[in-house]
Amino acid sequence: MSLPLTRKSTDRSGTEQFAFSFFCDRCGKEWRSETLPFNYGYFTAIENDIARQFLWAHEHKAAFEQANLDARFQYNLCPVCGKRVCNDCLCNRDVCKDCN
Ligand SMILES: [Zn+2]
Ligand SMILES: [Zn+2]
Repeated sequence: MSLPLTRKSTDRSGTEQFAFSFFCDRCGKEWRSETLPFNYGYFTAIENDIARQFLWAHEHKAAFEQANLDARFQYNLCPVCGKRVCNDCLCNRDVCKDCN
């Protein structure tokens, strides 16, 4: 699995769906990824728990990677301090307000 884009992130996934929260490195503003349903690997029926857990882990990983990519559009990388900051924390010079 990739490292989360922001320093703080939360896994909000459950047994039936996947969702993740990311937090601005500067102000802590939360962004939640789109909630994706657990598709059971597109099988119609799953016989045992081990298969189910395997499929869940597989889809969970894919959902996290997608959320982590989407988070790039929510948080800007400050080239000075390396923080990932939300638009509120960004100055018009494309650096965060701490580095302005
Ligand atoms: Zn912020
Ligand atoms: Zn900065």
